[in-house]
Amino acid sequence: MRKYLFPNLAVSSVLELTEDRLHALHVNALLLDVDCTLKEYEKQEPDWEIIQWLDSLKNAGFKLCLLSNGVGKRIKPLANSLGLPCVFKACKPMPGGVRRGLTILGAPPEKAVVVGDQIFADILAGNLAKVFTILVAPIKPEQEHWFTRIKRPWEKIVLKSFWKKFPNGVWKHTD
Ligand SMILES: [Mg+2]
Repeated sequence: MRKYLFPNLAVSSVLELTEDRLHALHVNALLLDVDCTLKEYEKQEPDWEIIQWLDSLKNAGFKLCLLSNGVGKRIKPLANSLGLPCVFKACKPMPGGVRRGLTILGAPPEKAVVVGDQIFADILAGNLAKVFTILVAPIKPEQEHWFTRIKRPWEKIVLKSFWKKFPNGVWKHTD
């Protein structure tokens, strides 16, 4: 169970994922969840710092793709304004959307990371697709869809055991 539900790395925000840190993981492609990972659920756009972070990674040669369970009507305009490709209706926790994102970026799974705020969507999808998974603390989770909120208590149980075992938030399993 742990193999599928634990992230490989847990951080408080995407802003902690610096170029150096990503280089140290030997990856060059990022599949990024949108709601509560890059922006507040109710906002149209990410905050300025996050947009800066996306731009600096792009300029440094990282390949980025949005990976959202949201509908195209909501995700495509955001992807266009950020100048990024996207996978919408990704059906996370199923791994198909992750694989679609890898294809779009032309990246093998071992060179990519999945970044998201939900264990039972982003992390499970990434782990099933055998991609390195990075959990971020959700931005304003109180705005989330009810279906996401009802999953949070279950996530807490998983996370309690994760932090107990990996107090520094790092678990680099490879298989
Ligand atoms: Mg999310």
